[in-house]
Amino acid sequence: MEKIVSLCKRRGFIFQGSEIYGGLANTWDYGPYGTELKRNIKEAWWQANVRGRADMVGLDAAILMHPKVWEASGHTQNFSDLSVDCRNCKKRWRADHIQGKCPECGSQDLTEARIFNLMYKTYQGPVEDAANLVYLRPETAQGIFVNFLNIVDVSRKKLPFGIAQIGKSFRNEITPGNITFRTREFEQMEIEYFVRPEESKKYYEYWVQERYDWYLRLGMKKENLRLRPHDQGELAHYAKACSDIEYQFPFGWSELEGIANRGDFDLVQHSKFSGKELSYFDTNTKEKIVPYVIEPSGGVDRAALAFLVDAYYEEKVKDETRVVLKFSKELAPTKAAVLPLLKNRPEIVELAKKIYQDLRGSFACVYDDTAAIGKLYRRQDEVGTLFCLTVDVQSLEDKQVTVRDRDTMLQERISVDKLKEYFNNKLH
Ligand code: ATP
Repeated sequence: MEKIVSLCKRRGFIFQGSEIYGGLANTWDYGPYGTELKRNIKEAWWQANVRGRADMVGLDAAILMHPKVWEASGHTQNFSDLSVDCRNCKKRWRADHIQGKCPECGSQDLTEARIFNLMYKTYQGPVEDAANLVYLRPETAQGIFVNFLNIVDVSRKKLPFGIAQIGKSFRNEITPGNITFRTREFEQMEIEYFVRPEESKKYYEYWVQERYDWYLRLGMKKENLRLRPHDQGELAHYAKACSDIEYQFPFGWSELEGIANRGDFDLVQHSKFSGKELSYFDTNTKEKIVPYVIEPSGGVDRAALAFLVDAYYEEKVKDETRVVLKFSKELAPTKAAVLPLLKNRPEIVELAKKIYQDLRGSFACVYDDTAAIGKLYRRQDEVGTLFCLTVDVQSLEDKQVTVRDRDTMLQERISVDKLKEYFNNKLH
């Protein structure tokens, strides 16, 4: 894991938050490559779950919501973990994460477990009193439920249909850690898929499989991915079934995403608390239905970390170690790098820059002439760039460039005027 963290920093995937001020603990900023990676993950998710489907629409709801939302959802009362404090070193831990002993100093002098609500509080407007208390949302899902009637009205979707949303959520986690795996501010990708109650088992199974396959389709290795169905004792009282998709991180198997059959709990609760009837009218049978909901809920940051870990390879090439991130073509932050072989030859630099300009409107590309070619290749391998294009002396005559494949390291000569077509074939 240290190798990945160091690569993330060195190459600009992830930086410590507020670093020049000594850092704010457990906050992380995504640098240029990390930002592209995250965008590509969200884009692939949106494409698979919204644009590519006739039964899904998107939503972008506000982070601050009416406090009653969290009463209805149960978060005000129940969204808490048990915490214990170490009397010796004063560290606070999640009670279910330790076994009677402080992981920091080893002391067994711990306080009784106390309930700790994970929602971040803030105030709306200039007066900081109870009447103005609001929460930063701890999940994006509730924004979907409170917009259920709006979406049914405007989209005219028939059951089954889903509403999808990507956005930031906040939880005042007691023990954040493992870089971006558990943070207090993170991004979620959530779907609420509304179905007829009698069909909920079928669609639950469908979504478990569909979400599992999505990670595989984006190149994640099967041996690092598993499904873990929850047993009855682990389920929330309203949930009919739940499965986690887990990834084998260097720190152990951990949750990437949960898929739950939540029954009609959320719509019923919000009907009760808001006084608005959240139901669906079936125009064929003329009956009112409160749909059941299947909720696939994943984290963008956890997915990004898992894809980073999964893509990391160290290979022996001649006598050197080559570090390469073998991202899939969809996720690679940069698709191609244009590299002039000799930066002191203006004609070569000019041609390389022209190629870069032509390609960059269509693909994520970079231009780099700040080192010798061997070093430039190593840099691009470390950030997972799919292809390196080298412009050399011969290119000036034959108008061809050398294209090097990241994974095979094989090189071929391609005509400059065929490059777009070449990449279109390779990348789509
Ligand atoms: P955990 O058991 O790891 O705390 P959870 O079961 O509470 O997770 P959910 O409430 O199901 O998580 O949230 C759905 C998804 O949101 C998780 O699968 C994860 O990918 C992401 N997520 C939740 N909490 C965090 C966090 N603190 N940091 C980063 N991602 C998170």
